[in-house]
Amino acid sequence: MPLVDYECTECPHVIEDVVYLQREEQAAHLECPVCDGVAVKKFPLIARTSHSWGDTNSYYDRGLGAVVENRQHRDRLCKQKGLVPLDDMPSHHWEDATAAKVKRVEKRQELTDRYTAALKKHNGDKIKAIPEALPARECLSGAINDIWED
Ligand SMILES: [Zn+2]
Repeated sequence: MPLVDYECTECPHVIEDVVYLQREEQAAHLECPVCDGVAVKKFPLIARTSHSWGDTNSYYDRGLGAVVENRQHRDRLCKQKGLVPLDDMPSHHWEDATAAKVKRVEKRQELTDRYTAALKKHNGDKIKAIPEALPARECLSGAINDIWED
């Protein structure tokens, strides 16, 4: 990942900030985590992979709010905070999650339509419409358990 260095103007601390792909632009200044002074952006460093074994240069990760020693350390910090690094997300994660949600919404709509039709058929009698729209066999099968999740 590309890194940008920030040098504190009040103490010798240097912050290495990972440039995340989704961040639009790198801030010109950062607050020094050591002395709360102003750290000024230096020059961008060219990609250094945090995946490789033996990367020994620690850096301050603003997203994690901590100095990260190496890949393994970053993974531990992420786990503690319940986060998943962006580059560790399975490909198509968001597409798959979106497709699953669309499916749930469609199923909800289908059940709603079924109930509305049954209600109309039985002239607004809910006692007759509910078992027709939501048969016990279907409800007990577990097939519609997860469609109300979001
Ligand atoms: Zn400082």
